[in-house]
Amino acid sequence: MAFLDRSAYAAIERRLKPTVQAVIDGKLVDAVSGRTFDSYNPANGQKIAEIAGCDERDVDLAVQAAKRAFEDKRWAGLSPSDRKARLQRLAMLLEAHVDEFAVLETIDAGKPIYDTARSDAPGSVESILWTAEAADKLLDHMTKTGDTNLSMVVREPFGVAAIIVPWNFPLYITVMKSMPALAAGNSVVIKPAQLTSLTALKLGALALEAGIPDGVLNVVPGSGSKVGAALARHPDVRVISFTGSTEVGRSLLSHSSETNLKRVLLELGGKCPVVVMPDIDDYDYVADRIVYAAMAHSGLNCTATARVLIHQDIKEKLTAKILEKCGLWFCGDTLDPRNRMGAMVSEEHMKGVLDYIRIGREEGADLILGGRQVLEETGGYFIEPTVFDNMQPWMRISREEIFGPVMGITPFRSVDEAIALANDTEYGLLASVYSNDLNTVIRLTREICAGTVSVNCYSEGDCASPFGGFKQSGFNCKDKSLWSIEQFTELKSIWMQLRG
Ligand code: NAP
Ligand code: MG
Repeated sequence: MAFLDRSAYAAIERRLKPTVQAVIDGKLVDAVSGRTFDSYNPANGQKIAEIAGCDERDVDLAVQAAKRAFEDKRWAGLSPSDRKARLQRLAMLLEAHVDEFAVLETIDAGKPIYDTARSDAPGSVESILWTAEAADKLLDHMTKTGDTNLSMVVREPFGVAAIIVPWNFPLYITVMKSMPALAAGNSVVIKPAQLTSLTALKLGALALEAGIPDGVLNVVPGSGSKVGAALARHPDVRVISFTGSTEVGRSLLSHSSETNLKRVLLELGGKCPVVVMPDIDDYDYVADRIVYAAMAHSGLNCTATARVLIHQDIKEKLTAKILEKCGLWFCGDTLDPRNRMGAMVSEEHMKGVLDYIRIGREEGADLILGGRQVLEETGGYFIEPTVFDNMQPWMRISREEIFGPVMGITPFRSVDEAIALANDTEYGLLASVYSNDLNTVIRLTREICAGTVSVNCYSEGDCASPFGGFKQSGFNCKDKSLWSIEQFTELKSIWMQLRG
């Protein structure tokens, strides 16, 4: 894709007028309490907006609005093709503002424009279009019966769906979760992460323009402990889709069990491995892909390659290439598309990543690249690409999610050992394998325990590929694909007696 140049993005930034109010029942509103919270640009530490600081009372207003909208069928009762047309209109509006969304995401989340203009913003347009297109192609079923009966199996929306979003893909995850819920006929209440609420709020405002009826798409900004927990405990929320940490995911299950047994769809953390076999022939390509997989989105990606498992025979040669490719990933001005690395989302998060780097050194892994905060003079929270060698599977840096631009290299000697290492984790989100041997590839793809396995590339697949974790990376949850719509529905059987 072609990027604009830095000055064009800076001009867009100057013109931005962020939506800072909640979107509830078709209106932009302040929090009931009148409170606000500040949002900062992680690339320079400067305040960029004061956002409505919602709490339980605003959640209740949004859920009641969503419930009314569901019950009077202003959305669920539309024909699927009408819902499709309105979601397509939303995609077109987003596309018309795609550069503004990219810049807004960059200044709010610290993501480089290299990522937001190339991936987050256009990827969100594509995701809405794919889901909208599916809305009127879904089929219900009839099962075989004798002549005296008719049996239908139909999918019904739940009602009010709550969507809780993390800060690493604020727009893209908002879209990937809420559009399937809407396509299925639910009404939604979205809670963005407090650190990165601006693109979800802008999407909420655009949804009104697109003809999504009032109350069908609500956005309630505020903290996880207030807004998130209130959604999880609300008796009128029937399904909650959560993307974030395993710890918070666990708490949502408790809230559900203590209240109305709402469905809980969980997308949680990852500690994703790549396995590189000794028969690879293009070291440049493989090293390039591994570094991309670890450093894209500044490493703030649940599917980032954090554990690099390389066959002992080629470890030295491939490691040298990996270090060379890391040289292309420099931190810098996030509005300059030549910089591929952005900032950590907050000072606190940066300190957590630096702590892990210290722990890795203390555990005895060899720090062979990076490891430091850089560009301190900007006031931003940048960490340079960091590589550990000889990371052992027992080390905390190998077992725990660091969530930063840090990869660790571990050697192996056989396919059996590679599979054992890859699976030696409580996570199971994505794995990549590189080999030219068909039998080895098939064995690795079948035996590695992960929701997605990409072969000779790093990829989560396209819009038709379901995405979701195994083990503690989550359950009940698949993004993208027709399954993403199904998960926002209940399966109903209708059994009829006919007169013979
Ligand atoms: P997080 O702390 O779990 O927060 C995620 C969301 O949950 C935020 O909106 C947060 O709100 C909210 N929240 C916090 N405490 C809550 C509570 N007690 N009740 C309800 N909601 C609550 O995770 P994060 O640090 O933002 O995001 C990084 C994590 O997300 C990583 O573990 C990463 O692997 C995971 N992730 C997974 C996927 C995937 O597809 N599997 C994709 C992206 C990210 P506030 O932040 O506003 O307080
Ligand atoms: Mg921010």
